[in-house]
Amino acid sequence: MKTYDYLVIGGGSGGIASANRAGMYGAKVLLIEGNELGGTCVNVGCVPKKVMWQASSMLEMIHRDAASYGIHASVESFNFSELVKKREAYIEFLHGAYQRGLDSNKVEVVKGYAKFKDQHILEVNGELYTAPNILIATGGKPSVMKIPGGELALDSNDFFALTEQPKKVVMLGAGYIAAELAGVMHGMGIEVHWAYRKERPLRSFDKMLTDNLVEMSKEAGLYLYANSVAKKIVKEADGQVSVYFENGKKLTADKVFFAGGRVPNTSQLGLENTAIKQSEQGFIEVDKFQNTSAEGVYAIGDVIGKIDLTPVAIAAGRRLSERLFNGKTEEYLDYNLVPTVVFTHPPIATIGLTEEEALAQYGEKQIKVYRSRFTPMYFALNDYRQKCEMKLVCLGEDEKIIGLHGIGIGVDEMLQGFAVAIKMGATKKDFDQTVAIHPTGSEEFVTMR
Ligand code: FAD
Ligand code: NDP
Repeated sequence: MKTYDYLVIGGGSGGIASANRAGMYGAKVLLIEGNELGGTCVNVGCVPKKVMWQASSMLEMIHRDAASYGIHASVESFNFSELVKKREAYIEFLHGAYQRGLDSNKVEVVKGYAKFKDQHILEVNGELYTAPNILIATGGKPSVMKIPGGELALDSNDFFALTEQPKKVVMLGAGYIAAELAGVMHGMGIEVHWAYRKERPLRSFDKMLTDNLVEMSKEAGLYLYANSVAKKIVKEADGQVSVYFENGKKLTADKVFFAGGRVPNTSQLGLENTAIKQSEQGFIEVDKFQNTSAEGVYAIGDVIGKIDLTPVAIAAGRRLSERLFNGKTEEYLDYNLVPTVVFTHPPIATIGLTEEEALAQYGEKQIKVYRSRFTPMYFALNDYRQKCEMKLVCLGEDEKIIGLHGIGIGVDEMLQGFAVAIKMGATKKDFDQTVAIHPTGSEEFVTMR
């Protein structure tokens, strides 16, 4: 049996970050990864998604906006397969970069799937490994639609495996992935029919954001179907796929996608050989220090089902290693006020409480909301005048900002700096005392009346 200071299961965003940080402090670390380094984010998540979003946005600019600036450009051809090839070559480069980073921190890597034999012994490819500290950072995978024919629906992994562009698709689901991939595919010229089972998509987001997204998506030519619960999926004789809905509607397309949340990678981990507690859905339960119910075993990232974002997994992983290997015994990640962007067309940026949540939590008297709706100067010369809408949710007499929300071109790159201010406890007065930058969209956040 081989002995280490730290065994890390999963070489994704969180696992790599935690392993590297532990290695920096001289710990003897083994990282165990069953697939490619980088995990979901690098291989089938953030990275390929952002590449596709950028390509899609570029096409949108050429088709929709260029002529308004007197630029009469046309797209001679858009080669989807070529884009996919280049994207995958970039991802291959990232694999090498991650390996070099681990090498420089003397983190050993073994390729294979880890299984707990007991609380402090892991088996990988028939070899046994032990350590006083073990991290579970095994992430998650797409959930499957549990209706007849549900297996016919493709997931986000399948989207990134496409080498040829479909002509027409149906997107089922209402979260980040459905919203992003529907927009990406539409921008690439694919006919997109997006059906969600409730009244609006992204229901946990501020309603202002989703109202705008729905309106702008329809204006752009996406087909949206609210209150549409799929009841079965059928493959037609000509190879097309049809979705039948409870309200009697039927949609047929080349491909049907389903993005309705993710499930944790825990079923093959041998957790029954440990004292680790899981939620009903299989997520690993942890305290604020990422401790599981088994001593010396920790969990971070998507496998705990708290906030499924790469920077969250990274931050939790690094803080854990600071605590375990650098004597910072009180270090932990505060999961409040995490900023996030949905890469829709246009993007959504959000941090803190929605207006609805703030009112429910503090009552009407305590909450003041500021809003601004305007046409960004980018569209000034265009007949199509896409709006940008922003909102500040403020608490109490000193108007502490507890929520900031925006949808519109460029908000994805605006949020990070505002998130610093909000995390520091900024008030509306602090925002007002900051001189605006003109002409930008972000100046609206410091000039709202
Ligand atoms: P992962 O990155 O999933 O890594 C887990 C790793 O563990 C995997 O490599 C897996 O192979 C490995 N593994 C599993 N079981 C075992 C085992 N038994 N033994 C060994 N290895 C094992 N987040 C953002 O912040 N921004 C975005 O723009 C964004 N876009 C996304 C787009 C899509 C389509 C998806 C699906 C996700 C996106 N996310 C985004 C979320 C982000 O990818 C995840 O939150 C993040 O990857 C979680 O990191 P993790 O370390 O917890 O798990
Ligand atoms: P989400 O959790 O974002 O959303 C899933 C939604 O799909 C549910 O809220 C639900 O909405 C709907 N849904 C669930 N089950 C069904 C069903 N059976 N039929 C129809 N609709 C259903 O999940 P995603 O898979 O989109 O993304 C997973 C996570 O990955 C995200 O939460 C996010 O943390 C991360 N991610 C982050 C990105 C980013 O940072 N930009 C991009 C992509 C993913 P309702 O109840 O309203 O129907």
